Amino acid sequence: MLPALRRALSEMSIRMKTSRDVSDLAIFGNSPAFAEKLYVGRPNVGDTTKVLERIKEALDNRWLTNHGPLVQELERRIAKLLGVKHCIAMCNGTVALEILIRALELSGEVIIPSFTFVATAHALQWQEITPVFCDINPETHSIDPRRIEELITPRTSGIIGVHLWGRGCDVEQLSEIARNNSLKLIFDAAHAFACSHGGKMIGGFGEAEVFSFHATKCFNTFEGGAVVTNNDELAAKIRLMNNFGFAGYDNVIYIGTNGKMSEISAAMGLTGLDGLNDFISVNRRNYERYRSEFEGLPGVRLFPHDQAEEGNYHYVIAEIDEELVGVTRDLMMEILWAENVIARRYFYPGCHRMEPYRSLFPTAGGLLPKTEELTKRVLVLPTGTAVNEIQIAAICEIIRLVLCNAKEVTARLNSRHLSTPLTAAEPITSYARTGQ
Ligand SMILES: *Cc1c(COP(=O)(O)O)cnc(C)c1O
Repeated sequence: MLPALRRALSEMSIRMKTSRDVSDLAIFGNSPAFAEKLYVGRPNVGDTTKVLERIKEALDNRWLTNHGPLVQELERRIAKLLGVKHCIAMCNGTVALEILIRALELSGEVIIPSFTFVATAHALQWQEITPVFCDINPETHSIDPRRIEELITPRTSGIIGVHLWGRGCDVEQLSEIARNNSLKLIFDAAHAFACSHGGKMIGGFGEAEVFSFHATKCFNTFEGGAVVTNNDELAAKIRLMNNFGFAGYDNVIYIGTNGKMSEISAAMGLTGLDGLNDFISVNRRNYERYRSEFEGLPGVRLFPHDQAEEGNYHYVIAEIDEELVGVTRDLMMEILWAENVIARRYFYPGCHRMEPYRSLFPTAGGLLPKTEELTKRVLVLPTGTAVNEIQIAAICEIIRLVLCNAKEVTARLNSRHLSTPLTAAEPITSYARTGQ
């Protein structure tokens, strides 16, 4: 270990030992720090009375779906917020991606990062388009433009950039590569609602961008999503495809599917938009608290949000470097789970190690060294309107205690019975609260 690092850790460990001892940790059989579980992605809920009022309005109108007045209002407000011409609201982000991919007639192969939620890959493979996984830049966690050109083949038709954690990916470089190689460029902006890139709101880049309004996202409509674009023709085509290809009462002019958002989702969305600034300021407060708690704690990197951009601060990402701190990310997660802090390791183990991609491309990992390293380091910590600053201080105290006493913690754990498997699967019922 570096001497400076060792010194810093031992100074902190002296400070910490006065308040808590390693033997206090719940993983050694003590009661957890939190009586109730703290989750990543617990939904932000705005003014409940207002949500119910809007739902009642829809019920009274007897207009529950099929591009009703609430969905229309939501689409107008989102388009205005993002400064785009068209917003087509949909039932979820995955279907929005699938429809956009189909509307653009992507085919053959499409280049995407492997470090993303698996839906980015599935939306392609579902329609028999091959996702080609590209490595990431470990600084930004986003697709590395320098690694794209070597992946382009005669079958390549497009690139999907993912604005991971709400931070815009390298839009300029990707646009240039797409232009030079006649590829279509779209963005999975599921994390990046109300975020900007280069001072411009995310939503207007590429051919189109896709948002998810899933319950775990910063802004939610229970389930929901949208395609936004400035392209009139593309928007018209997507609207048709979103509603079975109906161009009039009895007139189907295109193959389509059913991707419509319901009025009840739009009621939630409109109320969420009213509360969006409040959600974001809580997220920002929480993020700043984590940042100040982690300050000077070597070996842990908090993923930086660019203060010059609009951000939703919805994800607090800690990178735990085992080589520096002597504790694996997985061990840290296990310790936190014992304390009822349900931290998550998004997007472990990477899409390329999930089926069907693992079987289809068994050697993909060899081309993805940065992705493979990052998936071992990332730990997503609880934030959002369900988490307060006192809880954050307590979470950070546990992390600090472990890092400052890494050797002791590891030694004690090595001597205990290895009975329970590392990070037992959560019951499926908690999925909606724990997110993706
Ligand atoms: C959430 C998410 C999706 C899928 O959105 P759903 O609304 O859950 O279908 C796609 N891509 C990324 C990066 C996501 O985080």
